[in-house]
Amino acid sequence: MEYRRLGSAGVKVSALSLGSWVTYGSQVDIDAAAAMLKAAYDQGVNFFDNAESYAGGKSEEIMGAALKKLGLRRSSYLVSTKFYWGLHEGPNEKNTLNRKYLMQAIDGSLKRFGLEYVDLVFCHRPDPNTPMEEVVWAMNDMVASGKALYWGTSEWSAEEIRQAWEIADRRNLRKPQMEQPQYNLLFRDRVEKEYQRLYGDIGLGLTTWSPLASGILSGKYAKGIPAGSRLSLPGYEWLKDRFPQDVLTSTAALDPIARDLGATASQLAIAWCVKNPHVSTVITGASRLEQLDENLKALDLVPKLTQPVLDAIDQALAPALAIMRNHV
Ligand code: NDP
Repeated sequence: MEYRRLGSAGVKVSALSLGSWVTYGSQVDIDAAAAMLKAAYDQGVNFFDNAESYAGGKSEEIMGAALKKLGLRRSSYLVSTKFYWGLHEGPNEKNTLNRKYLMQAIDGSLKRFGLEYVDLVFCHRPDPNTPMEEVVWAMNDMVASGKALYWGTSEWSAEEIRQAWEIADRRNLRKPQMEQPQYNLLFRDRVEKEYQRLYGDIGLGLTTWSPLASGILSGKYAKGIPAGSRLSLPGYEWLKDRFPQDVLTSTAALDPIARDLGATASQLAIAWCVKNPHVSTVITGASRLEQLDENLKALDLVPKLTQPVLDAIDQALAPALAIMRNHV
């Protein structure tokens, strides 16, 4: 396993990590979670991603129970959570980063996890209805209390991240250290263009999500939607609508490129994310152990991603990229 610093922070994360969105609570129970966490940990993965909203809090409970079952040394791995969507309908408890919500949210998360602290805590989305100053103070206080070690953002604009960082800098508060954006072969612009100046200016680290675009880049949707796959799950129709059929079909073009390198399309797509040096860790997802095993082997492929291979990938996905850029 390769370990990378989380931007300018001293802490190091494994280049590949494992998250629980969609899977925990619907496809993965405590035993399956423990088996996958253990397999990942044994292969050097040291970061497990989660969020308050995943499966309405159940995802944190499952991860906490699985980690307890495994009895791993707490100092040897990092766990995250994220706040914004909330678990309740009240005016101060949903789609917000107000101080009251954030302060009680961390206590709820720690209880569900059964942990004394989380390593990374993210503001899961920006909140235009709470002053940035209030958010920064609350996140500073969460870190100062020892309930979280580093704070960051998820899907914030470069301007919002810089604004939060500058407030923290002026007030001598803990600064946002990392951002969690989507990054994969079909969604590139934020990481490659919008955030470009933040890497050098403020030492931003990245924990990127959906390296397979929810499994689409594995190519398994090219000929239809397999039973039991993410796009077939009730409640995820909105996800299916994000990817026009032409995009699903065109992902088959990655197959021959991967095959020539002795790899699978999933490994190729994940390795492509790892190749970007601004990415601290690529958060993978898996509903089954076999997927995890396949995906973790992607690291071996990174040195084989030469410029001609990268050009071939771009050419193969050019039609899909053009469609995605015009499809929100
Ligand atoms: P991926 O894009 O890698 O999708 C993972 C899913 O793809 C799996 O659950 C599985 O779904 C399928 N899959 C995985 N490997 C393979 C394979 N080798 N062959 C075929 N299918 C495969 O990642 P996620 O979208 O799950 O995102 C990863 C993590 O990022 C999340 O768990 C979460 O922690 C984080 N995240 C953060 C967000 C944010 O807003 N901050 C948003 C989304 C995710 P199946 O078998 O069901 O088809």
